[in-house]
Amino acid sequence: MRMILLGVGTAVPDADRDYTHMVWEAPDGLVLVDAGGSTYQRLLRAGVNPHDLRAMILTHSHADHLNGLPGLLFSLKLAGYDRRLPVYGNAPTLAAAQRILEAFELEQYQPEIDWTSIEAGDEIALDGAPYRIHTAPTVHSRPCLALRFSSDDGRALVYSADTEPCDAVRDLARGALVLIHEATTPEPFPGHTSPYQAGEVAAAAGVERLVLVHYSPRWTMSADRAIAETRAAGFTGEVEIGREFASYPLPPVSQM
Ligand SMILES: [Zn+2]
Ligand SMILES: [Zn+2]
Repeated sequence: MRMILLGVGTAVPDADRDYTHMVWEAPDGLVLVDAGGSTYQRLLRAGVNPHDLRAMILTHSHADHLNGLPGLLFSLKLAGYDRRLPVYGNAPTLAAAQRILEAFELEQYQPEIDWTSIEAGDEIALDGAPYRIHTAPTVHSRPCLALRFSSDDGRALVYSADTEPCDAVRDLARGALVLIHEATTPEPFPGHTSPYQAGEVAAAAGVERLVLVHYSPRWTMSADRAIAETRAAGFTGEVEIGREFASYPLPPVSQM
């Protein structure tokens, strides 16, 4: 099982960094987390089959996380995707997604969708999945979900989504192998996190590896400085800037 980064940029992409979104690959299929950019093509470039999509989770309703949704659904249907697609998110995010799809008038050219509204703190239970997905609320300008993908023994990979530093994300990340955390702003800013603050969260949560996403060398700070800031904040584990198509494995219990 692994998480593959499909985009790693802020709400203003760089030439080599599209909007932050990612896909979870597991034996039971793919779980897409947000749809920013040309998601169908990015799944192909990641080496996975878009038609293995078994579910989608939308973290929140900002345009950089939702803009690829109609194009993805249109492409899937045109290419013969004939399954029902469960889409999870909080109620306002799902309502926004539904309005977007109505505006595009996809009609029959989209998969049948099972809209499944969840509250932050709920578990997303997928039938037969060899992993669990827990959620937590973040602190952002719109209701937003952080996600924890874990194997039965509690080994976990956590994605902060968009947030300022908060206890809920720190607690969700506690003891995780990997924390993929946003680092958008050079200094503390409402609704977002600086590299220094991401280092503080990673240190407090005791994670082994910190990956900075929703980051830009142009809008945040240089990569070298961002890494140094996480160190200055006291994080001593592995730290890196997220790269597109990098992947982070989470071993299933049977393979450990
Ligand atoms: Zn964003
Ligand atoms: Zn946002």
